[in-house]
Amino acid sequence: MDYLAPATLDDAYRALEAEDARCLAGGQSLVAMMNLGLVSPARLVSLRRIEALRGIDLQPDGSLRIGAMTTHAEVAALTVSAAGPALLAQTARVVAYPAVRAWGTIGGSVAHADPAADYPVALVAADALIEVSSASGTRRIAARDFFRGLFETALEKAEIVTAVLVPPGAQGAGAAYEKLSPVAGDFAIASVAAIAGRTARLGVGGYATTPIRLEGIGVSDDALLEAGRALAASSEPSDDHRASAAYRRRVLPELIRRAVRTALIGARA
Ligand SMILES: Cc1cc2nc3c(=O)[nH]c(=O)nc-3n(C[C@H](O)[C@H](O)[C@H](O)COP(=O)(O)OP(=O)(O)OC[C@H]3O[C@@H](n4cnc5c(N)ncnc54)[C@H](O)[C@@H]3O)c2cc1C
Repeated sequence: MDYLAPATLDDAYRALEAEDARCLAGGQSLVAMMNLGLVSPARLVSLRRIEALRGIDLQPDGSLRIGAMTTHAEVAALTVSAAGPALLAQTARVVAYPAVRAWGTIGGSVAHADPAADYPVALVAADALIEVSSASGTRRIAARDFFRGLFETALEKAEIVTAVLVPPGAQGAGAAYEKLSPVAGDFAIASVAAIAGRTARLGVGGYATTPIRLEGIGVSDDALLEAGRALAASSEPSDDHRASAAYRRRVLPELIRRAVRTALIGARA
């Protein structure tokens, strides 16, 4: 197996043209899959030396641009009040545990598209954009269109996730991420990311193969529980080693209610 560590994006694009070449970011998912013999790439292209993939910048429109190689720990340490960025920071704080957060990156999590991962849910709720680049140029894809299926994304051959762009969210809105997992630090059985003011916009994750986005939901307890029941009745939740489909349907309405309640408390504060 080849290992390359280019210092520029242009060199990385070239390196990724080789057959069966893969990016290596924090290695928290890829190395685990290699150890289990699930994948054996012919070439690993480490993104670690590429300065253009680092850093968190506030853009003129109030959105946050988070470089793909930003670790979960760096996102978790953000102190921001706008709802969209605050949602990402809260989400990062409950990804796995400190050792994984010190190495794992937002670009790696997004590209990996694990159905139980946390960031995709928050990015869909925040109406974030995923920035991807290759030798042919840069595209920005709405998070809701980026996650296509089980470990499947809109990324094409030799494309790199370069950043995620998180809009501020409506003035006065609050944000919360509610995660139900078998034990603290584990992947989600189901999770809900909420941005809420007069109405709520939600991402639901862990629940199906891709995050589900709901918007314009009323914020009374009754309306929230009803939205959860309606989604549970009309969707096909995953049935796997973490939980049955029936269990996921059962817990969803209350998870939605809690996420929005917490977001509204945050908005008032
Ligand atoms: C014990 C454990 C517990 C975990 N718990 C959780 C959890 O609770 N919630 C959660 O969300 N995640 C969890 N994770 C996953 C963790 O968040 C990983 O960090 C993340 O999924 C992958 O990020 P990475 O930087 O390590 O990517 P890598 O493992 O390096 O790469 C993952 C995949 O993405 C590709 N890739 C990486 N970066 C890019 C890029 N910039 N552009 C294009 N492709 C790219 C790689 O080629 C590979 O296919 C856990 C992991 C472990 C080991």
